[in-house]
Amino acid sequence: METERKIIHGGCLCGAIRYEGIGEPYNVTHCHCEDCRKSAGAPLVTWASFSRDNFQFMKGKPREIAWAGRVRSFCSTCGSSLTFMSESDSDEIDVAVATFDQPDLVTPADHIWTEDRISWVKLADNLPEHARGRTK
Ligand SMILES: [Zn+2]
Ligand SMILES: [Zn+2]
Repeated sequence: METERKIIHGGCLCGAIRYEGIGEPYNVTHCHCEDCRKSAGAPLVTWASFSRDNFQFMKGKPREIAWAGRVRSFCSTCGSSLTFMSESDSDEIDVAVATFDQPDLVTPADHIWTEDRISWVKLADNLPEHARGRTK
């Protein structure tokens, strides 16, 4: 079966930053950790991973902030939270699915860091839950 090469387009709220991810993103997950919550100002953040070679910024350059050894990026104009890397030279990059132009293109597989979950966030999607990171 021939599959078309998927290209995911997305960007920040104001449009200053645009990116493109090539191929099928993996490890699509809802992260409840406190760092993701604080950095996004949201009760949880849904991420999808691309290999670093398959992801690039097409317009603008986000502001990168290193915190606790991880590197997160934001639009310096509108503040949208865009990406996460576990270290600056990581060979994969997690992209905030809510910044995709079409977030419906991916389907989350699980929840991680549910030990940090806010009590009023009620999970009813029957996806696997991991107290901390995903066990590989
Ligand atoms: Zn922006
Ligand atoms: Zn997190």
